[in-house]
Amino acid sequence: MKNIVLFGKPGAGKGTQASVLKEKFELVHISTGDVFRYNISNQTELGTLAKSYMDKGELVPDSVTINMLADEVDRSIAEAKGYIFDGFPRTTAQAEALDTLLSEKGMQVNATIALEADEDELTARLLERGKTSGRTDDTDETKIRTRFAEYNAKTAPLIEFYEKQNKLHSVNGIGEIDQITERIASIIASL
Ligand code: AMP
Repeated sequence: MKNIVLFGKPGAGKGTQASVLKEKFELVHISTGDVFRYNISNQTELGTLAKSYMDKGELVPDSVTINMLADEVDRSIAEAKGYIFDGFPRTTAQAEALDTLLSEKGMQVNATIALEADEDELTARLLERGKTSGRTDDTDETKIRTRFAEYNAKTAPLIEFYEKQNKLHSVNGIGEIDQITERIASIIASL
């Protein structure tokens, strides 16, 4: 099992890369953002709750997110050769919960790949994506700034969390999509 965490600021390319890498390495791709958006479009209770945070660019509370992630892992465990987690964990509590969840199943996070890019570049990318993504959190600069602030306050500490476990691999997230995929793929292949 190769379990990979794709880590990075909003707009760093986690979703784009995860979609390619899941095929290449036959991994199950879990994007918590996608699961929330699926629930919003199906007007579930979880969707209504998540929307109230996502619309402001804030993180959805840990208790909700962790339970949802655990359900997603359970749902796909039989078919999984490994997972690629995209947008989870985003807080220390989530990272600890992921370690516990995986170890209960005899697994672990094998590598965390941090996609690096600066905020000006990412803001431009998000605004561009917002023209076609239909995501309200991509079209409003105030919401984008809140998402960066949430990342810096709550998610950035995970860099140290994974460095301490010797699992952090930093990758330059600027360049052609294919080039970036190659950078990440060589890390996954070497695990
Ligand atoms: P993303 O699609 O990863 O950019 O996530 C979009 C939004 O979904 C975020 O701004 C959060 O509001 C919410 N979200 C996604 N993943 C998480 C998570 N792991 N923890 C809390 N909120 C999340």
